Amino acid sequence: MLKVSGLNAWYDRSHVVQDISFEVKQGEIVTLMGRNGAGKTTTLRTMMGLVDKRGGSMVFDGTECLMRPANSRFHLGLAYVPEDRRIVPGLTVRENLQLGLIASSRRERMDDMVDRIAETFPRLKERLDQEGTSMSGGEQQMLAIARAMMAEPKMILLDEPSEGIMPILVDEMFELFHRMKQQGTTILLVEQNVERALSISDRAYILDQGEIVHAGTAQALLEDQEIQEKYCAV
Ligand code: ATP
Repeated sequence: MLKVSGLNAWYDRSHVVQDISFEVKQGEIVTLMGRNGAGKTTTLRTMMGLVDKRGGSMVFDGTECLMRPANSRFHLGLAYVPEDRRIVPGLTVRENLQLGLIASSRRERMDDMVDRIAETFPRLKERLDQEGTSMSGGEQQMLAIARAMMAEPKMILLDEPSEGIMPILVDEMFELFHRMKQQGTTILLVEQNVERALSISDRAYILDQGEIVHAGTAQALLEDQEIQEKYCAV
């Protein structure tokens, strides 16, 4: 579904992502792990066309799209939820969800999709008419994910969704990812919560100083304390 080859990214002269290659197969959950500053966020932003100085190749669902403008990914079925959730102040949960379909040719299905999404995200269903930014951080994170799911993307990139969220919502969130996978969504996850992420992932890659230093099945990495301590301790 996604094949990234020789990806590079720079901020000015700083070479932050260095020639990395990885793939995500249809239906998989794959986690990108690594310490703070390893280059995980920059990798996702580069894939989404949000880092100007970039190079390499990214084939998504048969289409080379690395150098295409950022907004073209939406129409190919690739969604992205950045770390800062970008919930629009002054809008209700329902209205924030509707924004997820505003650029789509399926706009007329908005009400239907809000109902469907609300079934997958029960916490939002109870709060559809509440202002989005009045919810807790974890609930806002769920709203950001739900909004991205409105367009029924084939694949979603999630940047540290569990960061700063209370434990009970973290549990709910990881259950949610499992459900999204069962419903057919492919997921690339950036997470610091290594054990939780690995427990729902198929495979993982470890980034260190902008390079991929290890790749393996989630199960093998879960059992490898040494690698986890070496590259993933915060
Ligand atoms: P974290 O978990 O802390 O977000 P990360 O693995 O996602 O870490 P990045 O945010 O991709 O890492 O950062 C990789 C490197 O790029 C770091 O050295 C960081 O300081 C640098 N960097 C990130 N964003 C910018 C920017 N906008 N301009 C310049 N340098 C940046």
